[in-house]
Amino acid sequence: MVMKEKIDRLLAEVQSFNAENAETLEQFRIRFLGRKGHLQELFDEFKTLSSDQKRDVGQLLNVLKNAAQEKVNSLNETFKSGKTVSLSENDLTRPVNFLEAGTRHPLSLVRNEIIRIFSRLGFSVNEGPEIEDDWHNFTALNFAPEHPAREMQDTFFIEKNPDIVLRTHTSNVQIRVMETTKPPIRAIFPGRVYRNEAISARAHCFFHQVEGLYVDKNVSFADLKQTLLYFAREMFDASTQIRLRPSYFPFTEPSAEMDISCNLCGGKGCGFCKYTGWVEILGCGMVDPAVLENCGIDSKVYSGYAFGMGIERITNLKYQVKDLRMFSENDLRFLKQFESAG
Ligand SMILES: [Zn+2]
Repeated sequence: MVMKEKIDRLLAEVQSFNAENAETLEQFRIRFLGRKGHLQELFDEFKTLSSDQKRDVGQLLNVLKNAAQEKVNSLNETFKSGKTVSLSENDLTRPVNFLEAGTRHPLSLVRNEIIRIFSRLGFSVNEGPEIEDDWHNFTALNFAPEHPAREMQDTFFIEKNPDIVLRTHTSNVQIRVMETTKPPIRAIFPGRVYRNEAISARAHCFFHQVEGLYVDKNVSFADLKQTLLYFAREMFDASTQIRLRPSYFPFTEPSAEMDISCNLCGGKGCGFCKYTGWVEILGCGMVDPAVLENCGIDSKVYSGYAFGMGIERITNLKYQVKDLRMFSENDLRFLKQFESAG
């Protein structure tokens, strides 16, 4: 039946209609609902039908009329509330608003590189709390009660008695891991640490460390030296030399500081290495038996080595950053110089 088909076609048109603006909506309204519009035309035609045909078509005609009316009402609402959905907003050929890609912070780049090097040697990564108790930050690490690091000028105390501090090194994680893990233990501990220092180009009240620990049967100083040589050559250059100088730390015995051959002059001597050919990069040593015992590890069966380095220090050597404060000032001119990979 011709009239039924006509209604179907108009209904499809109503359903797919969208108005760009109030003007096109008004044109649509007149075309469908106006005095000479489609619906008036159809109702006129309806009058000429037989009563059988009227029963058939009447309901459809009402569906079309309601659909057209609803379409006009809802689009009117949209225009009034200002939520115009213009077709141009859905234009997929429009140029993209480019978001500038960020870069990784230099300290993150270096930390990730350190983690990658030691994971190739089988070290896992552990983290621990930055707010720490006296036992894990000092006592278990063999710090004598009168050690100067416990004084207010070095440490940020959250409270006294019991002592709760902002950790002064990541060694607290070594203790926590040894307390809860049976050897063999081979792990590194990256994290942020705090010292009560006046802020200058060479000192800051917070900085970052990576410490490492290996505890097993028959771990020797030779293992330590070989591990650190591998690290230095992976981190800097395959020709890098290391040297160990005797030192003292409460938690290692014997203890040493490690220098690498200056990576700027290759060891010949320059302003950067103060014409010595060497630059200091970390502290290390064999874990003091008392520290192992503090953590419930039998020091007659097990031995271990530990080392610790400042990430800022390694970053300075790699990128020659002159002022420590630049790491925390968020100056884009500085940060943008570092690649985003890694
Ligand atoms: Zn040099």
